[in-house]
Amino acid sequence: MKLSPFIKPFLLAAVVALANGVFAGDDGVANGPFVLPELPYEKDALAPAIDADTMELHYGRHHKAYVDNLNGKVADFPDLSSTALEDIMANISTYDEVVRNNAGGHYNHSLFWELMAPPASTGEPSPELIYRLDKAFGSVDDFRKAFSDAASKVFGAGWAWLILTEDGSLLITTTANQDNPLMDVVPARGTPLLALDVWEHAYYLQYQNKRADYVERWWDVVNWHAVNERFEAAVAMPATE
Ligand code: MN
Repeated sequence: MKLSPFIKPFLLAAVVALANGVFAGDDGVANGPFVLPELPYEKDALAPAIDADTMELHYGRHHKAYVDNLNGKVADFPDLSSTALEDIMANISTYDEVVRNNAGGHYNHSLFWELMAPPASTGEPSPELIYRLDKAFGSVDDFRKAFSDAASKVFGAGWAWLILTEDGSLLITTTANQDNPLMDVVPARGTPLLALDVWEHAYYLQYQNKRADYVERWWDVVNWHAVNERFEAAVAMPATE
């Protein structure tokens, strides 16, 4: 097909703009298959536990960078664009370190936002979850203490998790960097029910070096509705029965 001289410069400009990511704004439009999800609340909605400046930096820059970096790896690993994030995690050992860090970062943060809610609408653990937390940890309070303790003890950057393991038990675990319990490279695997980011970027603006204070306040914004749903879905999966 021969393009008219009038159309050609516009087409060329559009192709170059696409290649340079000009169309990838902050509005969730990505220059690849992975997209920064919309936050389920306003950036100031988790205050005072987590302030708007922290959310702006954490979501708008750190999470966005994981998404952008992951999109940048599709050329090296074309199957990334047709593979569910959970399946990428389950086979993370077949990719390189950059995919591990950025796919992990994208998955972990997408989950983290969903697992928090404004303080007035967090709900509480369901009777079924309370029953299982009591059985596993003694009481819900004991669970909270053990989880906070594990989060406080992560050395350097990482995450604390409550997971349902493949044999159906509840377990508190931690991972380094952007690893998570779905990855085939971590010792304790399972379905994440609750996740806490203890990277300094998650709290340093507001709490400086006082990670324990951040962890304590974070409990005020745990979205128990979401945790309950994840728990119900996880116990219903045949593999975990
Ligand atoms: Mn983070």
